[in-house]
Amino acid sequence: MPVMASGDFSLHREGCGEFDDGMPISSFPDEVTSIEDLECECWSEFDSLEEI
Ligand SMILES: [Zn+2]
Repeated sequence: MPVMASGDFSLHREGCGEFDDGMPISSFPDEVTSIEDLECECWSEFDSLEEI
């Protein structure tokens, strides 16, 4: 499940260490249309949104 960081609203995987506190979200916001929109490297093992 993706987590939205409460500080800068960036999106991360649950185990990512790049955010202090966050809120789990059930699906990505509409703004996220491709893997490139997920800027943190915690997503780097995925090639496309469909894989997540
Ligand atoms: Zn991350």
